Amino acid sequence: MDGMHIQFLGGVDTVTGSQHLLAAGASRVLRDCGMYQGRRDDARQINSQLPFDVAAVNAVILSHAHLDHCGNLPTLVRSGYAGPIHATTATVELAGVMLRDAARIQEQDAAYLNQKTNRRNQPPVTPLYTLADAEQALGLLRGHRYGATVAVAPGLGVLFQDAGHILGAAVNVFELEENGRRARVGFALDLGRKNLPLIRDPEIMTGLDLLVLESTYGDRLHDDATTAADQLAAAITKTLARGGKVIIPSFALERAQELLYHLTCLMAAGRLPALPVYVDSPMAVAVTRIFRQNIAYLDDETQAQFQRLGSILQADWIHFIESVEDSKKVTASRQPCIVIAASGMCEHGRILHHLKHGIANGANTILIVGFMAQHTLGRRLVEGERRVRIFGDWFERRAEVVVLNAFSAHADRNELVDYVRQVGPRRIALVHGETEQRAALAARLQAAQAAPVLQPAQSETLDL
Ligand SMILES: [Zn+2]
Repeated sequence: MDGMHIQFLGGVDTVTGSQHLLAAGASRVLRDCGMYQGRRDDARQINSQLPFDVAAVNAVILSHAHLDHCGNLPTLVRSGYAGPIHATTATVELAGVMLRDAARIQEQDAAYLNQKTNRRNQPPVTPLYTLADAEQALGLLRGHRYGATVAVAPGLGVLFQDAGHILGAAVNVFELEENGRRARVGFALDLGRKNLPLIRDPEIMTGLDLLVLESTYGDRLHDDATTAADQLAAAITKTLARGGKVIIPSFALERAQELLYHLTCLMAAGRLPALPVYVDSPMAVAVTRIFRQNIAYLDDETQAQFQRLGSILQADWIHFIESVEDSKKVTASRQPCIVIAASGMCEHGRILHHLKHGIANGANTILIVGFMAQHTLGRRLVEGERRVRIFGDWFERRAEVVVLNAFSAHADRNELVDYVRQVGPRRIALVHGETEQRAALAARLQAAQAAPVLQPAQSETLDL
């Protein structure tokens, strides 16, 4: 089918598996190839069967390094794609860490299933993709700076602007052209927020015929991002007064670095004593290194801090832990300290060891600074459960659980409405949100008399 159009292929009325295909004449460009995350069998099927003709794709644009946007690139490559994948230079570096880790998990999952005895007479499970597939995908990445417009296929160019979401994340303007007709399509997913630490505020795209916008928090409000440091200081001060530890489950990418930035500022201002902070996640250590090597991507405040201190996210009270032995020493210690560990939703990883050793101590605090999906240990903690299971054993939760709502890398309802007002597109397509969140945002935008609002269905094609 020729003509200019967009097809909504993934992450439409759900928040994972983002995929969009743009067409101008014979050119086909894919924006993001995200991994769908959900029940194991569904995920397996959705992720292994790409819903488009891979051979027709000329180029891929990658918005950022979160797995729900980049996590299925190795499947694309495994399916025969060998063209370029364009992203910002910071995203290229971060994608290396994220995709290698994802591939290792796919390989481990398959190995685990194959050794289960009830599968003895069934054909072996193969991983969705392997480390070799991930390496091949990483080899196709091409890095660009914010502000760069790249001609990616005949009649298709793309501009990278700052999304204000995580390091290197981009909102993209696609410029399509066919037989002298033109269309400008902007993608604001994922869209960040003003005043996040480390990174700049979201840039405003201009002259859009269509804005494709996320609706993750289409019906929710966060506390203002500027209150995050105060909330953090209050929770830590209270814990120190009773001689406890502060245990923070955290995503390794962005949230861990945000925490270190806030702690640096609080200690420099004398609002917190210089107590030891342990970053117990090899992935967070790798990501923090990438932040330090990409100062040009960071905001003015962070650059000023870098000028003043000669470094960022580095201090004698910050201890980066890579080995399991060092991790064990911290879990066994009763000294007041702050532990930042993955996984962010307390499903696996070293945070489980810290919780196992610290959850029954009423002096300790478990600080929640990220989204907790249903059916995760993190969600059970948020919901105030008094007895929880960790590694198969039951534990009495006596540690205080404190939820800080100022931490979010996604625009909330008011921030989304405000962004639309500033961009002023001719049409809006809402995606990347659960059904109710998306519908609520559509109603808000209509009430605010923004442009016509579409809620495309999965696989729907829209002419431009
Ligand atoms: Zn994201």
